[in-house]
Amino acid sequence: MSATQVVDRVVTLRESVGGWRGAGQRIALVPTMGALHEGHVSLVRLAKAHADKVVVSIFVNPTQFAPTEDLAKYPRPFEADRQALSGLADLIFSPPVEEMYRPGDSTRIQVAGPATVRLEDRFRPTHFEGVATVVAKLFHQVQPDVALFGEKDYQQFRVLVQMVQDLHMPVELLAGPTIRAPSGLALSSRNRYLDEEEREHAAIIYQTLRSCAEGIRAGDTPASVMEAGFAVLSKADFHVDYFEARDAETLMPTEDPERALHLLVAARLNTTRLIDNIAV
Ligand code: AMP
Repeated sequence: MSATQVVDRVVTLRESVGGWRGAGQRIALVPTMGALHEGHVSLVRLAKAHADKVVVSIFVNPTQFAPTEDLAKYPRPFEADRQALSGLADLIFSPPVEEMYRPGDSTRIQVAGPATVRLEDRFRPTHFEGVATVVAKLFHQVQPDVALFGEKDYQQFRVLVQMVQDLHMPVELLAGPTIRAPSGLALSSRNRYLDEEEREHAAIIYQTLRSCAEGIRAGDTPASVMEAGFAVLSKADFHVDYFEARDAETLMPTEDPERALHLLVAARLNTTRLIDNIAV
């Protein structure tokens, strides 16, 4: 592979990607906010298996952060990210904020359905509007054949699937599996906010998800299992925003035993908010 190109303007991005498309090459996009870890890298590898050229965007998207959230302190280790992608991505698109949101920018995408099921949206009411808007912009800029997202952000993936279906966007969405630390903790750029002891402690989230999924598979009722799981996390000093079993596709509550269930959690450990999920 030739050296990874780094571009920060849409017009330059279009030149490169347009050249590849003209040559009949298949293009993959992996949107990220940088501070890359093995979870992101796994998506880039998966992208390479599905396309000839891989574009990785690195953009800390202000519209998906609430004023109270960590936009200013979100890590931006660009040089390390560039090195992590060297030899893996064909192009890094890392635009400044003014390139993505030009003066007078006033269009936002609001998805209902999976974006309004009272999970992440209950605690971050403007989050998915920001995510859908920036991903739609990236899709129009790159025009990828395929775009890859992590199962780690399960509700986000369902929201984007809904957006692509509803707006007839000509892109295939693929989800990559959640990459975890040996302890089971899902890798996240926000894990940098945890100290060593908190990182070890945070592994309880995945352990609890797993034992709840096993309980439901073994025939225990989802409601009782989830109540017990919530109590385990609360007792372990997590502030639990939600710990729920939902329909794996619609993310709505369901009591239909024929529907596949998915368990989703958001919990705060001291000042760090962590999310995770697991299929039953
Ligand atoms: P972010 O930089 O947090 O916006 O994440 C960019 C993409 O990487 C999203 O599609 C995430 O779902 C995905 N991702 C984040 N963490 C992981 C992980 N531990 N395993 C797999 N994918 C991940």
